[in-house]
Amino acid sequence: MKRICIIGGGASGMAAAIAAARKGAKVTVLEHKDRLGKKILSTGNGRCNLTNEFLPEGCYRGEDETFASEVLKLFTPADAISFFESIGILTKSRDGYIYPRNGQAACVRDSLEKEMERCGVKWYVNTEVESIHPDKGGFRIEVQRRIEDSSRVTECFPGSKKGRKQGKKQEKIFRILPETYRADIVILAAGGQAAPVLGSDGSGYKLAQSLGHSLTLVVPALVQLRAEDSCFKQLAGVRADAGVKLYVDDEWKASDVGEVQLTDYGISGIPVFQVSRYAAFGIACEQRVRAEIDFLPYVTDTEFLKLLKNRGHQWQDSPVEDLINGIFHSKLLPVLLERAGISCGTPARNVQDETWKSLVEICKKFQVKIVGTNSFEQAQVCAGGVRTSEVDAFSMASRICNGLYLTGELLDVDGICGGYNLQWAWATGVIAGEHAALR
Ligand SMILES: Cc1cc2nc3c(=O)[nH]c(=O)nc-3n(C[C@H](O)[C@H](O)[C@H](O)COP(=O)(O)OP(=O)(O)OC[C@H]3O[C@@H](n4cnc5c(N)ncnc54)[C@H](O)[C@@H]3O)c2cc1C
Repeated sequence: MKRICIIGGGASGMAAAIAAARKGAKVTVLEHKDRLGKKILSTGNGRCNLTNEFLPEGCYRGEDETFASEVLKLFTPADAISFFESIGILTKSRDGYIYPRNGQAACVRDSLEKEMERCGVKWYVNTEVESIHPDKGGFRIEVQRRIEDSSRVTECFPGSKKGRKQGKKQEKIFRILPETYRADIVILAAGGQAAPVLGSDGSGYKLAQSLGHSLTLVVPALVQLRAEDSCFKQLAGVRADAGVKLYVDDEWKASDVGEVQLTDYGISGIPVFQVSRYAAFGIACEQRVRAEIDFLPYVTDTEFLKLLKNRGHQWQDSPVEDLINGIFHSKLLPVLLERAGISCGTPARNVQDETWKSLVEICKKFQVKIVGTNSFEQAQVCAGGVRTSEVDAFSMASRICNGLYLTGELLDVDGICGGYNLQWAWATGVIAGEHAALR
């Protein structure tokens, strides 16, 4: 029986384990957190947007944009839905966004773990893979296992006064134990380095590199953008239905429309996440990055200008802000007027045609100089990773290291928001698991 060792018990690792075990392999999963699939619990705000019925053009990005589409022909969103049905999860669609029917990410994690158990997969948590060595036609895997030391359980008082009154709390002490595992095949499913608190801390990249793989530049993606302008302090908390266009060195890169959130440091929200990877690459390459926000995305410049002029004509003595009150958030109004060079309180009759035009321009092309992104800690995924030219899209087998397979976010493929990153994890996991078992 083929011995397969899977490094990382996240989304793609758990899918790979089930697929390989179903094909008859002896599967062991090594996970350095204290339980499998921790990140799955946080996905989709606890509801787990596990795939998407639609795969629009450009929903996956990377150095080779055709790689993801090749892989996803072999394991489609419909296959993901069937896979989940086979482990007991029924799904529901919200405009194509697929969630477990009960809306609970926890049941996705639990069902994956239960199926692993049913299939005879063994797993070890608190087990950090330190190094992987090709050895005697297979692999030797060196780990550090954290084992709870019951002989050294100490008692300590919890910090709060209330806790002190309630009594003592036990503090767990762990021993670190070096161990060696052997396997015929290794599936590296250690993720990227986004949200490291949930497990993926970038160690997968180092393991891949140690086995001969190379990386593209890795940056945070699906992440908030930081702006230079001090007006954001005053705009914090504003949510607006708006369009976002992202430019790098004045070249358009991506756009999206939806709820944009203005924060004290810059911009956030789904449309910002969708374009953020281009900003992150631009910043990393020291290019000029700017976002252009359209605070009235469904109204043309001409329509808006006409509306302003009509209102100005009708309410000549009213202050300008009264004309656009009700269109924009009250915190946003003074910022828009200031940028258009209009003082608050100016009667509409005093506003010249050119000034109306410039107000339209400011509202529909609000310029934001982007100076950074939030860190990997706040990012949902990474853009960049192991070069896909070094991996076979048909099987996820490494072209560099015999017997190695690579899956998930570790690879240089990042999806947009909407279930695409988990679809990528399930697809690459199942394909790698099946091929590794049948190898
Ligand atoms: C807050 C948040 C919400 C998200 N929501 C969604 C969503 O709704 N829909 C969607 O499609 N995507 C979502 N994503 C993205 C999605 O969760 C990831 O793309 C996906 O989990 C990647 O799967 P993976 O198996 O490649 O990596 P991971 O799921 O990160 O799994 C990697 C595993 O490897 C383990 N590991 C790493 N290094 C080692 C080591 N050296 N030794 C042992 N174990 C190791 C980690 O602890 C981890 O368990 C979200 C991400 C975040 C952070």
